[in-house]
Amino acid sequence: MRISITDRCNLRCRYCMPEEGVDKIPMRDILTYEEIVTICEQAVSLGVNRFKITGGEPLVRRGCPDLIRMIKSVPGAEQVTITTNGQLLEKYLDELIAAGVDGINVSLDSLREDRYKMITRGGELKAVQDSIDEAVKTEIPLKINCLLQKDINEDELYDFAEFAFDKGIDVRFIETMPVGFADADAGLSNERVKLLLHKKWPKLTPDERVHGNGPAVYYHIPGRKGSIGFISALHGKFCHKCNRIRLTSQGLIKPCLCYGDTVDIMDALRKGNEDDVRRIITKAVMEKPMEHCFGSDQRPEKHSMVEIGG
Ligand code: SAM
Ligand code: SF4
Repeated sequence: MRISITDRCNLRCRYCMPEEGVDKIPMRDILTYEEIVTICEQAVSLGVNRFKITGGEPLVRRGCPDLIRMIKSVPGAEQVTITTNGQLLEKYLDELIAAGVDGINVSLDSLREDRYKMITRGGELKAVQDSIDEAVKTEIPLKINCLLQKDINEDELYDFAEFAFDKGIDVRFIETMPVGFADADAGLSNERVKLLLHKKWPKLTPDERVHGNGPAVYYHIPGRKGSIGFISALHGKFCHKCNRIRLTSQGLIKPCLCYGDTVDIMDALRKGNEDDVRRIITKAVMEKPMEHCFGSDQRPEKHSMVEIGG
């Protein structure tokens, strides 16, 4: 279960968020940490045992490490990880580790200062790089997520691969999905990315080691550290094995990233009806569609990714 804890963000990535930001939602309409934990408890009782904290930017919500500690103490919750843009990661790294976080994903689309600032509309590359260096020292499982876009950062493909090999970490290329402000045609297909990498590194071979729970497929160069992952939602449709459900900060569960359909869990939660909470989680799982419709002319999800959590 991916849990978005806020729609707010300290960056404005062009494919994710409008320049002016999104409307501020009153705190009373946002799930409290205690409510999120109740959902996690009920989810665990149904067999959901891995949780990813996301946003917006999760580290801009006060007490994010406390939430991780609270979920970690739910009996049966096996894994709690976080996805962050890394701007505040160095500041919170020790707290996150003390809270028991099991892994950190950092989103990073450029290794060049000006370009990073341009893509994120103001982000500080150094803050992310310092965070990554600190995280590498701790040996916490760390993954970098990168969206390659034509004419924007596709020329950094090899730099990102070298980055993975040098730091000994996983860099994953994520295909751009037609959600929110993103133009999927501006993204690169992972088939093409793989071909280009093979040209430079013919020894790149599938990496059979288990890297995570998700749909990424990994490659590595035997003898070198680090791996390259591919998350190919568009060109490598993995709907048949997708086991994700998404909880928004306003208490809606989304069965699929592609469609706007949601089931409301807030009402049952605030009435204190645990049976209903479990029924609603089950309903969301049962309503997962056979497949997404990315690639067709339809664009049924009207929300931006910052409101969904990726
Ligand atoms: N702020 C955090 C971050 O950037 O990691 C968490 C939320 S962000 C919405 C989660 C992930 O969604 C990021 O890695 C981002 O690059 C990705 N993302 C946003 N829009 C996307 C799109 N249209 N297609 C694919 N990934 C997208
Ligand atoms: Fe913020 Fe993450 Fe969206 Fe960038 S991708 S605007 S960091 S939520």
